[in-house]
Amino acid sequence: MSAERIKITKSRRWVIKLGSSLLTSNGCGLKADTLQVWVSQIMQLREQGIDTVVVSSGAVAEGISRLGLKQRPHELHKLQAAAAVGQMGLIQAYENCFQKFGVHTAQILLTHEDISNRNRYLNARSTLRTLLDFKVVPIINENDSVATDEIRFGDNDTLAALVANLVEADLLVLLTDQSGLFDEDPRRNSHAKLIQQARAGDRSLEKLVGEVGTWGRGGMLTKLRAAETAAKSGTPTIIASGMEPDVLTRIVSGAEVGTLLTPEFGQVVARKQWLAGQSRVSGLLTLDTGAVRVIREGGKSLLAVGVKAVDGSFRRGEIVLCQDTEGNEVARGLVNYSADETRTIMGHASNKIESLLGYIDDEELIHRDNLILV
Ligand code: GLU
Repeated sequence: MSAERIKITKSRRWVIKLGSSLLTSNGCGLKADTLQVWVSQIMQLREQGIDTVVVSSGAVAEGISRLGLKQRPHELHKLQAAAAVGQMGLIQAYENCFQKFGVHTAQILLTHEDISNRNRYLNARSTLRTLLDFKVVPIINENDSVATDEIRFGDNDTLAALVANLVEADLLVLLTDQSGLFDEDPRRNSHAKLIQQARAGDRSLEKLVGEVGTWGRGGMLTKLRAAETAAKSGTPTIIASGMEPDVLTRIVSGAEVGTLLTPEFGQVVARKQWLAGQSRVSGLLTLDTGAVRVIREGGKSLLAVGVKAVDGSFRRGEIVLCQDTEGNEVARGLVNYSADETRTIMGHASNKIESLLGYIDDEELIHRDNLILV
């Protein structure tokens, strides 16, 4: 077993993307019994200590069936309407399947912009983390009524990768109707070999799939690009066949299933690189000696109590520099409160935030995951 496969056997948080073709009959209507099989596998992962975020398509297909349409419409607005109708059935079906195990699900509809906007990114991230803490299984889909990226191109591959970044998943599983990535087209050449492992973002892989049509919804090229995106937060991706029985439980046992695309750097390094590469700094916090010590030596989050002064005007989710009282730069990070809010809560304990502001978003001013020392 390769070192990377061994790591997967010890992983704790997965994002699993289930495409429409795996959940519906020929793109028309959901198959409840198939969904139950997936849910049973996810429950087995959970017994092994793995939290799962499911990114699921199937809304358009279910909507087409509910609206009695003979075939998939071409007009985007009709597809969006079908998605709005079908999402009801999709989420109901998941809730029913998980209820059999006494587990709750939560519906989250996202657009790509929700993840690129820093403020909404932080909100989505803390909601998802809180749901996982509550042991709820988030079921994510694109918000198709306001966005069309996945309807047109992705069938949620890209969205799943962005979600893997958001929750810093240990693994992204993209399930499809092929066993993985082959060195030649397996439909044309029976000797085509499955590539078991490669580096995410390796451009030479694109040549293997770069034929006409592969940009189609959820094609292999989209999956390779999705793996590259996931690698930005240090998340490896497995592209595997959803037709293979027990595929998820086989992956967690370390079996050489599908194609594993590995990131160049681990999660911590990847995140720090991303933060370090963000040149737009919107404000400056001056920290007292105690705060400097706990973030430097203790690897802790920055709390409002340790802040002595706030400069600049920034919003939640923007990047601020932290300096000591002598003006030496100590760290930079994504701040959870705006400049005005920070001025109000600075010097106070976290349990005072609610009475000072009238609400509380996060207990930390900058969470340690969003903080890099300089
Ligand atoms: N988000 C869409 C869905 O859930 C994408 C798939 C499609 O276009 O059929 O149905």
